[in-house]
Amino acid sequence: MNDLIDNINNIKNNISRAALKSGKRPEDIQVVSVTKKVDSEAIINLLNLGMNNIGENRVQELLKKYDEVQNHIDKSKNTDGCTPTWHLIGHLQTNKVKYIVDKVDLIHSVDSIKLASVINEKCKEIDKVMNVLVQVNVSGEESKYGIDAHKLDDLLYEISKLPNIKVQGLMTMAPLLDDPETARPVFRELNKLFVDIRDKKYDNVSMLYLSMGMTNDYDIAIEEGANIVRIGTAIFRNN
Ligand SMILES: *Cc1c(COP(=O)(O)O)cnc(C)c1O
Repeated sequence: MNDLIDNINNIKNNISRAALKSGKRPEDIQVVSVTKKVDSEAIINLLNLGMNNIGENRVQELLKKYDEVQNHIDKSKNTDGCTPTWHLIGHLQTNKVKYIVDKVDLIHSVDSIKLASVINEKCKEIDKVMNVLVQVNVSGEESKYGIDAHKLDDLLYEISKLPNIKVQGLMTMAPLLDDPETARPVFRELNKLFVDIRDKKYDNVSMLYLSMGMTNDYDIAIEEGANIVRIGTAIFRNN
């Protein structure tokens, strides 16, 4: 628990520094704690520390931890901890959509009209409008997921016609290389797309969130415009 508190304080300091450097307010940067390598108990500790954005990259894991955390919240009498906001940050298969639409608050990884249509359909059944980010493969080769930048406009246009899905921004995975500076041009490019689309003002598409940056490069991502960073390793490492 002490390591956890230290780590979070360190991250918050780094975020403040990066935000101020780029003329943004530290409180406008959200941390999604990526809990794919830890158990539900760790998630509950985070909630008790006021870290309520929880990110999982696999549906199966998310479902298991969702139930465990919810059981804990239902049973515990103290209401100190905040309630979790669940983010699906990894690739989503269309046949798994039905399991999560009632549980997650933001899907970061929409990258095809096929996936968007299934989310729309399943959300219609439960009368929900799902907030999503469109995942863009900025660097072209490194990631097998994400839509190519030059196809983004068409995808947004198609998604904007779906009533039960609302695009709230963009997400990318930068290539994982030793030098985090190599991610900077990728982040800069996504920010450019973000601003372009925001200025075009598509119906039913808002550019509120730019989800980019992980343990190795979140400070650089913030300097380049990120307002959601997804951090796992740096939160849970033992000092
Ligand atoms: C694992 C993961 C992260 C966090 O990575 P760390 O390097 O542990 O901070 C962020 N985003 C996605 C999509 C991930 O799968």
